Amino acid sequence: MERRRSPRSSPVTAAGEVATTRPAAAAATNPPDEPKQPTVSPPPAPHPRAKRGVPEGLWQKCDGCNATIYRKEAEELLNVCPQCGFHWYVSAAQRIVQLLDAGTFEEWDASLLPTDPLGFRDKKAYAERIVAEQKRTGMRDAVVTGTGMIRARRVACGVTDSSFIMGSMGSVVGERLTRLVERATAGKLPLIIISASGGGARMHEGILSLMQMAKVSAALARHSQAGGLFISVLTNPTMGGVAASFASLGDLCFAEPRALIGFAGPRTIKATIRVELPKGFQTSEFLLEHGFIDRIVARKDLKSEIARAIDYCGG
Ligand SMILES: [Zn+2]
Repeated sequence: MERRRSPRSSPVTAAGEVATTRPAAAAATNPPDEPKQPTVSPPPAPHPRAKRGVPEGLWQKCDGCNATIYRKEAEELLNVCPQCGFHWYVSAAQRIVQLLDAGTFEEWDASLLPTDPLGFRDKKAYAERIVAEQKRTGMRDAVVTGTGMIRARRVACGVTDSSFIMGSMGSVVGERLTRLVERATAGKLPLIIISASGGGARMHEGILSLMQMAKVSAALARHSQAGGLFISVLTNPTMGGVAASFASLGDLCFAEPRALIGFAGPRTIKATIRVELPKGFQTSEFLLEHGFIDRIVARKDLKSEIARAIDYCGG
């Protein structure tokens, strides 16, 4: 189980590695207009990061029931509302702490850094946005990947974080996930990916983002053909190109209660098909009822349920 090499065991090189090593990111080296330059300086250490969705203060309003909740109490429940059970946002770093055995996580490919291959600009330049997001979140991009133990079972584990450009998948997220899958396949490790991505494919990288969907999916197909286990955990929110690729491809698909899961948002769908959407559309509960996911798992049970599934599947 330990035969894989560990990229993190060697010191990370100064500017890090850019996700241009495979065809899917090749155009990153060929920007159309702007002179090519490293668009992003090395960000701060990935952890710890600021909590988002949990503003500082003793009390917090619950998005599920509107009650004012004593923050400490909710934190002790892994950021779940003690009154209505609403599952609040947790960062990728918090998720790893919640899910993996203490001190076992070892990050992979942390040196992959996003670039701005298209010179994209909306309200602000993508290059500036990346730097701002890195500063704000302490992450390098919207996913953290690596290996760790779940109740003493070694796994390959990836977590997307909706606080970094909505958890959207650009070249770095796609590349890190692909490498994660490939290492899981090579090392015969159960693969766990926890999705918290409201953004889908990252528009700032255009086609380079879209092709990550196919790239990660192809790696998952090879993982499956090799007999590997993939457990996908969908959390609030899992939308767009993330939902339409790897997040839906689990051998087992778990979802947290009342998570928003779908492709396009309800307003877009309604405007397109001009039909009243059913109640609870795009929630975990609705999708369970319609066979899209296998089980709804409360956050407090997630670790045990994953460990149990790994054992059941002979992982
Ligand atoms: Zn609540």
